[in-house]
Amino acid sequence: MGASPWELKVFEACGIPVHVHICLILYFAWALSNAEAGVKAEAGMHGLPDYSKAASIALRCTLGFMILFFTILIHELGHCLGAKIVGGKTQRILLWPLGGLAFCGHGGGPKSDLLVALAGPLTHVPQWLAWRALSVATAGSLAIRLGTLGPVVTSLCAQAMSMQIMLAAFNLLVPCYPLDCSKIVISLCRLAGASANSAALFMCSLSVLCIFVLIASMAGKVHIPLIAIGFHPINVMLVCWMAYQTYQLCCQVSVNEVKSHPLFNDTCQPCGGETLPLRQCDSARGSITAGGVLSRPSSSSASCEGCPASLPQ
Ligand SMILES: [Zn+2]
Repeated sequence: MGASPWELKVFEACGIPVHVHICLILYFAWALSNAEAGVKAEAGMHGLPDYSKAASIALRCTLGFMILFFTILIHELGHCLGAKIVGGKTQRILLWPLGGLAFCGHGGGPKSDLLVALAGPLTHVPQWLAWRALSVATAGSLAIRLGTLGPVVTSLCAQAMSMQIMLAAFNLLVPCYPLDCSKIVISLCRLAGASANSAALFMCSLSVLCIFVLIASMAGKVHIPLIAIGFHPINVMLVCWMAYQTYQLCCQVSVNEVKSHPLFNDTCQPCGGETLPLRQCDSARGSITAGGVLSRPSSSSASCEGCPASLPQ
C-alpha cells in the first residue's frame, strides 16, 4: 500500500520510514486549542490572558503529545521487530489520529502472526519500567537539579506510566479487529486447529459482545478496569470504527471468504492496529480529554515491498 498524499515522511527509525498523517497534526492543534480554552475564558472579553499559565498548559500538552507519539512509535517498532524475526519486512510506519500502522509483511503462519501481534504490546513493559525509573530518580537524586520543573516531570512520568498500561491493556484485552487482541485470538484459534470460518465466527461473536460492553461503559452503566472509556466524540468514533470492522468481518464470514481478510492473510498486511487513548492533555484545568484509536486499515490493499504477495483490494 503506497503512501497517500496526506502523509508526510518525518524521519526514519531503525531504517524504517516514519510517516505522519496530516490529520494527526490537525488533531494536535485541536487538542491544544481545547486545552487553552480555559485561559481565554478566564481572561474574559476585555482582560489579558495569563500568558504564563497559557505557556505552561501548552508545554504540558505538547510534552504529553510527544510522549504519546513516541510510545506509539516504539509499539509499532515492536511489531516491525517481530516481523523481522519471522523473516518479514516493513515498508513504513504511519502515525495518524486513529493510531499507528506498521506496514509489514511476512510469509509465516499463525505462530508468526502471534509473535508479531504480541511484539507491539510487549514494548510497553520496558517503556513502563523506564518511566518508573525516571519517576523514582525525579523524586530522589534529580529532585534538586530539576527545581521547579520536578513536579512537571513527575506528573509526566505518571501520565506516561498510565499510558503504557492503558495501551497494553486495550490492545491485549479488546477482541475487536484491528486491535492486536483480534490477531492473537485468531492465531490461537488456528493453532488449536479451528477452521478459518469458525475462528472468524468466534471473533465476530467476541467483538459484538465487546462493543456492547464498551457502549455500556461510555454510557456509564458499567466500569471496566484499565480500559474504561468515557463518553467522548473520539471514543464514539473508535467504537463505530470497530463496529464497522466487525461488520465487514461478519460479511466475509457470511459469504465464506474470510481468507481474504487481513486477519487470515499471512503474506503481507499492515500490522499493529492500536487503540490510542490519547490520554488527558494534562492542562491546569485537567478537563481536556482526547482519545482515539490507532488502527490499521481493514481489507484494503496491503501490498508492500519485499512481500511475497499482496492482499486483494
Ligand atoms: Zn499493536
